[in-house]
Amino acid sequence: MQQEQFNKQLFDFLHHSSTPFHAAEYLGDQFHQAGFQRLRERAIWTTESGKGYYCIRDNGSLLGFRMAAKPGDCTPWRMTGAHTDSPALQIKPLPERSGNSYMQLGVEVYGGPLLSTWFDRDLGIGGRVTIIDENDTIKIRLLDFQRPVVTIPSLAIHLDRNANEEHKIDKQKDLSPLFSQPLDNDVPSFAILIQQQLKKQYPDLSFRTILGFDLFCYDTQPPTLLGMKNEFISASRLDNLVSCFVGAQALLQDNLSDNCLLLCSNHEEIGSSSMAGAHGNFLRTTLERLLPDTPCRQTILDRSFLISLDNAHGVHPNFVEKHDPQHLPLLNHGPVIKYNANQRYATTGRSAALYKTVAGEVGVTPQEFVMKNDMACGSTIGPITATDLGVQTVDVGIPSLAMHSIREITGSKDPYLLFKTVARFYTRPQLPSYEE
Ligand code: ZN
Repeated sequence: MQQEQFNKQLFDFLHHSSTPFHAAEYLGDQFHQAGFQRLRERAIWTTESGKGYYCIRDNGSLLGFRMAAKPGDCTPWRMTGAHTDSPALQIKPLPERSGNSYMQLGVEVYGGPLLSTWFDRDLGIGGRVTIIDENDTIKIRLLDFQRPVVTIPSLAIHLDRNANEEHKIDKQKDLSPLFSQPLDNDVPSFAILIQQQLKKQYPDLSFRTILGFDLFCYDTQPPTLLGMKNEFISASRLDNLVSCFVGAQALLQDNLSDNCLLLCSNHEEIGSSSMAGAHGNFLRTTLERLLPDTPCRQTILDRSFLISLDNAHGVHPNFVEKHDPQHLPLLNHGPVIKYNANQRYATTGRSAALYKTVAGEVGVTPQEFVMKNDMACGSTIGPITATDLGVQTVDVGIPSLAMHSIREITGSKDPYLLFKTVARFYTRPQLPSYEE
């Protein structure tokens, strides 16, 4: 698969993955079409070597794997991990508010978005709805308006003369999106609009009432190439859907070696502590099912490896002073290995060596990043998973600008360079070994 085609497919995935639920469903469908079999956690699993499987937890986390064709007693696991969620505005349980002829929604801030970028955007609403049908069965359906339905207008500069100097955002007061202005007696309620959208998407669904929802506002503008020579990608949710997509495409190759696995977790942006997050037990219980013998499992994990995939901060040309002068990752120069002495990233000199070996074999020279000493460092699911499983881990991601903006930027070469490296990681006849 060449870069242009890869980016086209990436754009399709980004555009259809308005929420973590849609991202997991999209990748699950891809696995299904490639012959992977869906496993459900409520069932007893019987798996065969040489076959692919996937499992979705709580709609928003997805785990895909393929067992080795000829598993030895201690065939290692080659794992990648990423996250399906991005910072967003989540709709409150009782969202409606009205005044001055407008209908507005109450929203909570999910994760750490750059809130200024959410104003004056054409926002859609998407997520998960739980209904009860006429037979008293509770059902879950994904919902997506797939068009702009709400917006958060800025206050005009004439009414806020200091807007460019000292504009603070009051999260309770300033962020309520407009969703309607009833001009006749037909006042729409949010619940009715959701019901109408459900009927549109699921004409055969009979439901008595909506019992709950997990709905988010999202940017409806499609991803695009940008720059005089299309050097850049501009899109929403690049952090971290690019990594989910890269991991999935690499796992869908047909010449994998050993046991290969991809974990895409929800709730990373809010700390990963949930049943669907990386602090939950999704990966551990999966490995315990597949490798029930504890001593054997520990032997295998000791020889296994995890690449934790999450975007990195490329150096911003207007703010070079925000980077350590020796560590200046550039867009279009490929994936970045992320280090932190306090293990906010799981990389060590030892785990970086394996990654560099694999990347070098496909002609990709990794860039390296470390946060400036006077700035707080972010984190990823890498340290969490390394801690839980005791598995060698490296933290790697494509360089990006404007992380957590509603529109983020990366190089148009970078996703494919990461794919080539992860593809090599999954297909190399053997993982590089360490002589202790
Ligand atoms: Zn991230």
